[in-house]
Amino acid sequence: MTVLDPWIGKSLADVLSDLRDLLDDFDFPTVKRWRAGGGKVLGHFQVYFPEEIAHAAGLLPVKIRGAQVEARQAEARFGSYLCSVIKTSLETALSQRIELDMFVSHPICDAARNLAAVWGRNFSYPCEILYLPQNANSPSTIGYLRHEYDRVRRTIEQVTGQPVTDEALRHSIGVFNENRRLLRQLYAIRRDRPWLLPADDSYVLMAVGGLIPREEHNALLQAMLPLVEARTARPQDRLRVVFEGGFCEQPPLDLLRTIAQSCYVVDDDLMIGLRWILEDVPTSGDPLHSLAEAYIEQSSYSPVQHDLRKPKEKMLVQRIRAAGASAAIITAAKMCEPGLDEQVAYSKALDEEHIAYFLSEFEESMTSFENLQVQIETFIENVLFA
Ligand code: SF4
Repeated sequence: MTVLDPWIGKSLADVLSDLRDLLDDFDFPTVKRWRAGGGKVLGHFQVYFPEEIAHAAGLLPVKIRGAQVEARQAEARFGSYLCSVIKTSLETALSQRIELDMFVSHPICDAARNLAAVWGRNFSYPCEILYLPQNANSPSTIGYLRHEYDRVRRTIEQVTGQPVTDEALRHSIGVFNENRRLLRQLYAIRRDRPWLLPADDSYVLMAVGGLIPREEHNALLQAMLPLVEARTARPQDRLRVVFEGGFCEQPPLDLLRTIAQSCYVVDDDLMIGLRWILEDVPTSGDPLHSLAEAYIEQSSYSPVQHDLRKPKEKMLVQRIRAAGASAAIITAAKMCEPGLDEQVAYSKALDEEHIAYFLSEFEESMTSFENLQVQIETFIENVLFA
């Protein structure tokens, strides 16, 4: 089943405009279309969820990533000093903008720890916590995680009334391998020819994957990437930067557009869960073991995964070097403890490496970007003419 408005034959500019509208539509029309066709939906909160398990069961896995809505009902269910994404995510469900058949969250931080429990008090469908390993470095981690994935599989089977077979899982892994390959291609264009693909266009093409079936996302990317490559924009003498801080709550698209007007954003950690696994996952053998192993051994980094082999500040410096960037924009969502904590370690490491950086905070509901634009332009001038 396809859920996007027809896009075949449209220009890249028109498709991007439609996708932008879709991402800004917090009535989630693609999810509604899926449900209208008789499909069931599994919503999963940031950052990473093995969507292959939901896909293999025939569910639509949907990324619950907050929304630019007023959290009228959700405010009453949480304390005040929390990030926005926790409240607006629940609000989308309480206000029936999105309807689910199962919800999964992860205890990635103090704010998210109680999300599934609060969610579960308001809805009768299963609301599960997936306990991703606290310690990625123990020899039993992969076995433990496989067990967790199997527990989620069994709950999903209760939702659909059908077994989720290993064969179906292997097929789904293949679909997601293709999706990750296409996203790597998207990011390679950003890195190698950033003048062809501003950060906001890239974000739109990537993030829509969290709202539609992956086969449809694959078809979209397969059609759009050649159109991006065929753009005739010429390179300009612009600062190359990495944007860091979008692993959980998402900055408004206009914020990304504002930044992209002044510099080339050659890499980022936005919606990193969609690109968490860096290489193909084997499509033979025990699929849950393969997924668990890939989560630990072939993965990116974020402030909410703790792996001694991947100190976040070293990973950031690596990301900057690999992208050929000479500066970084280090942001964090307001009230995001993990993100704000990491800013300290990032600043120290970047100081040591003599890499220029711009520190800031954002909130998904921001609507004014003039100050940010002036600050970023000043930062860029300082770096370019230092
Ligand atoms: S934005 Fe930060 S504090 Fe909020 S749920 Fe995500 S990781 Fe936790």
